[in-house]
Amino acid sequence: MMSVAGNLDQIKVSLPGNVLLVAVSKTKPEELLMEAYVHGQRAFGENKVQEMARKYEALPKDIDWHFIGHLQTNKVKYLAPFVHLIHSVDSFKLLKTIDSEAKKVNRIIPCLLQFHIAEEETKFGFSMEEAVDMLNSEAFKSLEHIRISGLMGMATYTNSEEQIRKEFACLRSYFDQLKNAYFNLHADFKEISMGMSGDYLLAIDEGSTMVRIGSTIFGERNYISST
Ligand SMILES: *Cc1c(COP(=O)(O)O)cnc(C)c1O
Repeated sequence: MMSVAGNLDQIKVSLPGNVLLVAVSKTKPEELLMEAYVHGQRAFGENKVQEMARKYEALPKDIDWHFIGHLQTNKVKYLAPFVHLIHSVDSFKLLKTIDSEAKKVNRIIPCLLQFHIAEEETKFGFSMEEAVDMLNSEAFKSLEHIRISGLMGMATYTNSEEQIRKEFACLRSYFDQLKNAYFNLHADFKEISMGMSGDYLLAIDEGSTMVRIGSTIFGERNYISST
């Protein structure tokens, strides 16, 4: 088996310079995160609020913590002081809560809007219509403590390369449309977070700027013994 450092090196040679590698460390012990850290990795992704807060407390303070999981409004306050980017904003209600918690800690929190691009029913996210309704609303325009930095999406879990490609291309097209219509003057609206261990090369082909990779770096997750 390869080491964390070896795995990181192997992934990095396949990433263009403009693509950020978010090392998805959910369920993994702090020792493994430190192996990546001493090898230069600074962006880590987590999908549980308590787990991310615990790791934030324990690990070096120059780590950028990316929240990538479904986020409940009552837990936003635990992330607000330190989260670097929330990839998984899937409702206006959540965005509004992030804004008010960010205000309390005197921050502007960067956020990505998660879009539903997969066939599966279970994946969270906006439709284009829902996003446009939100972006047009006065309530959205009044938020001052969030910054929309781009979009995030997850492709269907399938062997069909064609389908995965089509879904990533769809997210890319949503990004281009929203950039033109709402964010043309916002230089910060530039990220497309798409691609995981199984599909990140396709995602990069289709315009990804952030890949979220877990098992290829840290090994398979064992949910029975480690959650
Ligand atoms: C777990 C997870 C990943 C990483 O998945 P791997 O297949 O282990 O690379 C990426 N994105 C999200 C939203 C995740 O929950």
